[in-house]
This record gives sequence, C-alpha cells and structure tokens, in this order.
Amino acid sequence: MSEIYARPEPTLIPIRRPLCPACQSRMLLVHVGASCDGPNLRIFECSKCGNVHETTVDDPNGSAR
Ligand SMILES: [Zn+2]
Repeated sequence: MSEIYARPEPTLIPIRRPLCPACQSRMLLVHVGASCDGPNLRIFECSKCGNVHETTVDDPNGSAR
C-alpha cells in the first residue's frame, strides 16, 4: 500500500524534492506555506547534514488563496 497516495491533503501531494547542495542527499519537505517571497513557500531540510533550503513553486490550483 502506498502511504503517499493514501493521504488526501493537497499539501502532501508528492512534489519534486531537491538534492542537498552540500551532500547531494534527498532533502525532506519540512514546511509548506505562504511567505513574503510568494504564496507557495516550500522549505526543505537535509536529513543527513541539516542544510535548509527555501524555495517557492507555482501552484496551478491556487490552493494557497
Ligand atoms: Zn545535506
């Protein structure tokens, strides 16, 4: 059973997770929300070295508004 697709929350829909620029490990999504940088802020954290990466994404569904 897929634990990813079993979740109805739109914010938990699988999205592209970047690789850590420091150690190339797959980063974990730790925060989703709006910010002054844009309506779709994503904050990723590297589970290996703890590096934090913030980015914004375009959301065609406009779920943030
Ligand atoms: Zn890392």
